[in-house]
Amino acid sequence: MSAFSLAGRRALVTGANTGIGQAIAVALAAQGARVTCAGRRPCDETITQISASGGAADGLILDLADPMAAADVFAGQDYSILVNNAGIIRRADSLEFSEEDWDAVMDVNLKALFFTTQAFARAYINTPSEGGSHAAVVNIASLLSFQGGIRVPSYTASKHGVAGLTKILANEWAAKGINVNAIAPGYIATNNTAALQADPERNRAIVDRIPAGRWGAPEDIAGTAAFLCSAAAQYIHGAVLNVDGGWLAR
Ligand code: NAP
Repeated sequence: MSAFSLAGRRALVTGANTGIGQAIAVALAAQGARVTCAGRRPCDETITQISASGGAADGLILDLADPMAAADVFAGQDYSILVNNAGIIRRADSLEFSEEDWDAVMDVNLKALFFTTQAFARAYINTPSEGGSHAAVVNIASLLSFQGGIRVPSYTASKHGVAGLTKILANEWAAKGINVNAIAPGYIATNNTAALQADPERNRAIVDRIPAGRWGAPEDIAGTAAFLCSAAAQYIHGAVLNVDGGWLAR
């Protein structure tokens, strides 16, 4: 079997109804994983897409506004892949930023990511999956795990936190057969960035700074995620991989 194959593995992707999460779910299924597409809304479109290509997928309603929502999802199951993709962003000047926008973003992007991953790892360690001798967690970080951004204080804080959690969990779990890594996307054309794409000036300024000369597509992130979940990436622990068209290299 190819070292890149995910055949026999069971995966859960959060926020799999749209954007990057949808593309990741499709990519994992294309490599042979059985994918649970989790969303606060039904992931019917993603499941249909996977089924139409001959892949295996099921759906799960999981609203991570409650950071403990996934506490009982993994016990007694055979998941060996978790992709923490769900995320939100709130924009306002830091002088005006509200506590509500702080808490909402931190709960979904950081607290839910930690406790979902804790539940996954506890279950994996108690019952290693039949699909393989290792497990993989892929966290979706951001360019703003490295930069400050503007008008997005809770998002920037949460994504710096995602990079930090990726490193501590890798330190603690590498010896337990769990690979924890993150992908830091640059500017990817999804709902998350719709406001930036719609603003001609911001859009031009962004594209001008991307050496690759274009916005990323969700599929640009999905291939990297599939690789990080595979046996081919088994010696990669705690990495935060920039998938940004060269933005940070500039
Ligand atoms: P998106 O299309 O808006 O996707 C975000 C996903 O998160 C959606 O499925 C959304 O569900 C889900 N979500 C939001 N709140 C949730 C909750 N309470 N419970 C469960 N799911 C929830 O944007 P995207 O760009 O694909 O974002 C995916 C990830 O990539 C996020 O973590 C984001 O921060 C990160 N990222 C994106 C970019 C970019 O340029 N696009 C760059 C860096 C990092 P709904 O559809 O119901 O809202």
